[in-house]
Amino acid sequence: MSLRISVIGTGYLGAVHAVGMAELGYTVVGIDVDADKVAALARGEAPFYEPGLDELLAKHSGTGRLSFTTDFAAAADADVHFICVGTPQRRDSLAADMRYVEGAVDSLAPYLTTECLVVGKSTVPVGTAAALADRLAKSAPVGAGAELAWNPEFLREGFAVEDTLHPDRLVFGVTSDEAERRLREVYAQTIADGTPVIVTDLPTAELVKVSANAFLATKISFINAMAEISEVAGADVTKLADAIGHDARIGRKFLNAGIGFGGGCLPKDIRAFMARAGELGASHSLAFLAEIDAINLRRRQRVVDLVRELAGGSVANRRVAVLGAAFKPHSDDVRDSPALNIAGQLHLQGARVSVYDPKATENARKIFPTLPYAETALDACRGAHVVLHLTEWQEFRDLDPAELAGIVETPVVIDGRNCLDAEAWRAAGWTYRGLGRP
Ligand code: NAD
Repeated sequence: MSLRISVIGTGYLGAVHAVGMAELGYTVVGIDVDADKVAALARGEAPFYEPGLDELLAKHSGTGRLSFTTDFAAAADADVHFICVGTPQRRDSLAADMRYVEGAVDSLAPYLTTECLVVGKSTVPVGTAAALADRLAKSAPVGAGAELAWNPEFLREGFAVEDTLHPDRLVFGVTSDEAERRLREVYAQTIADGTPVIVTDLPTAELVKVSANAFLATKISFINAMAEISEVAGADVTKLADAIGHDARIGRKFLNAGIGFGGGCLPKDIRAFMARAGELGASHSLAFLAEIDAINLRRRQRVVDLVRELAGGSVANRRVAVLGAAFKPHSDDVRDSPALNIAGQLHLQGARVSVYDPKATENARKIFPTLPYAETALDACRGAHVVLHLTEWQEFRDLDPAELAGIVETPVVIDGRNCLDAEAWRAAGWTYRGLGRP
């Protein structure tokens, strides 16, 4: 019989993981405490924008093999349970808020009456898995028959479906051969397709995820530090990145200077990593991440300062078009979005901001209802004194600078992502300012 899978938490990670498991041929139930999210998924509608997700939901919703519910009892029959709930930053510290992971395990445990594998996918502080294994052994009726493993997730929003079906590696943190065998069974197709598997212990599996994110954050803040230096030295950080990126040991990917990283992962993950290192008495090992975070946050400030400079010393009553609200393109996620943060700062300083995003306006409105939002990029730009390009949607690259020059008040653009065609914009009469570029 084919495996039965439960997926606890059906957000950006869990919803995609659930359809991915259905695509592998398993019978899947997705469980979440958010009744609206569950209702949308049960209707076959993705509750957020993720390319390819609607199609896969539609494909599997009709088969009866993929269902969604708020009732944890539906997980009772599953052979494997994936924990995919959120681990956001706590309000009162840098640490991760573990309430949701613990709550999910506590809600699931009473239904674990037969042997099964509980697999954590959420990004957690090292040591969480061992603590959860104890918690599970004490509260599940089957006791230690509910085994715990960790299988961290590396998907990128915007490419989540592709990354789930074709990950570049699988990491299995296990404490027994049986757990490894089960995970190899779950991912048999993915492994047959050539995906490398790293089998390790629980703490290593947890650390792999946070260290990968710490490295990516470091790479971005490194090039943004070079952007700061380039600005004061009159150099061009994009050329610098091209040149150092040709060195295979460095590589060009993730070397795009701009307004920095954001989203529901990198910022909170490096902070939680620092907090955990402190608890383990190893603050010094990760002290550099505080600087990575600080460099990143300075990028947002840099744009606000640049707007003020280009607007003649004050942003009050200046009309500022903000192109982009999502933290990155191909996503509607606005969690810790640099674009929205910049828009918010300018709004609070008295600028007349107009924000446009192709997919993220609805989410942006939920967390920043007082910001004015536009229906189109042209509407946002009409009458603007400064245009900000803050999320790299293709739609913004395709804008015609000549047409836009005709509708703004003053043709001044700040390219927060350094990816517009500077020559074309200048040729159309714009004052073009990139970040870390002359
Ligand atoms: P999310 O906020 O989109 O989804 C979390 C979901 O968990 C929500 O739908 C929430 O209602 C649900 N939930 C909370 N408590 C619950 C409970 N007790 N029982 C059942 N459901 C519950 O978050 P996300 O982006 O999907 O992230 C989930 C985890 O995956 C985090 O640890 C994150 O760091 C990690 N992760 C995310 C990504 C990504 O790109 N989003 C990539 C890799 C890893």
